[in-house]
Amino acid sequence: MSANLHPPKIYGDMKIKIKIDNDKCKNPDECMKCVQACPAKIFVLKSVKKESSYVNKWEVKVLFKDLCNGCMKCVEICPEQCISVKF
Ligand code: SF4
Ligand code: SF4
Repeated sequence: MSANLHPPKIYGDMKIKIKIDNDKCKNPDECMKCVQACPAKIFVLKSVKKESSYVNKWEVKVLFKDLCNGCMKCVEICPEQCISVKF
């Protein structure tokens, strides 16, 4: 019996829209729930430097959105309701 490791199911020409409300995502480097939950690993944490500050700010960004399989784990797990996924 082969194990099902949730291989990404690519939705061909479907236009997937994944949005992150970074204003609502206050501490992404401490949370990381969406990054860890996504089976397709499409989220990354990116450092964003503000011009007026030397303090690094982190934001969750979407990479490789075409690998999204529509499982909605990211939407369900986000404690701040920052993420929307639409087809
Ligand atoms: S719905 Fe969310 S968790 Fe599921 S594959 Fe797409 S981006 Fe990843
Ligand atoms: S799960 Fe939500 S709050 Fe947590 S890092 Fe991802 S977008 Fe931000």
